[in-house]
Amino acid sequence: MDGVLLQTVEALEGSLFVAGAGEMWELLQAQKEEVAREILADGPLVQESVGGLQECEPSESCIRDFEWHHRKTLEERLRALNDAQDRLMDGGYGRCLECGEQINAKRLAADPALSLCLNCQTRAESLNFSL
Ligand SMILES: [Zn+2]
Repeated sequence: MDGVLLQTVEALEGSLFVAGAGEMWELLQAQKEEVAREILADGPLVQESVGGLQECEPSESCIRDFEWHHRKTLEERLRALNDAQDRLMDGGYGRCLECGEQINAKRLAADPALSLCLNCQTRAESLNFSL
C-alpha cells in the first residue's frame, strides 16, 4: 500500500494543486452554481446598476444586444468551469491547453477556470481583437 501511495505522490508531483484538488473542485462547483443560477434567473437581465448601459440609447435592440452578450458570457463561463473540472479529473488541470505549460498559480487563483497560460491567452486575445 505504501508503495502505491508513494508512486501516486510522485506522479502528482509538479502539479501545483495536488493538495487542493478537492478544494479546487468545490470552488469551481460553487462558481458553476452561481453562474447557472444567474442564467436560470429569468428576471430582467439588464439591471440599472450596470454601468455603461446608460451610454447607449435605451433602445430595445441595445438592451437585447446587452442581454445577449451577458447571456453569452455566462454560458461561456459555465463551459470554462465545466472544462476546468474535466481537467481536474483527468489530471490536466493547471496546464495550458495550447502549449502544455503550467499556468501561473497566481493567475489560477484569480480565475480557477483558466485554460491558457499568459502567453497563449495574450495571443488568443489579440487574435480575437483583430477579427
Ligand atoms: Zn500556453
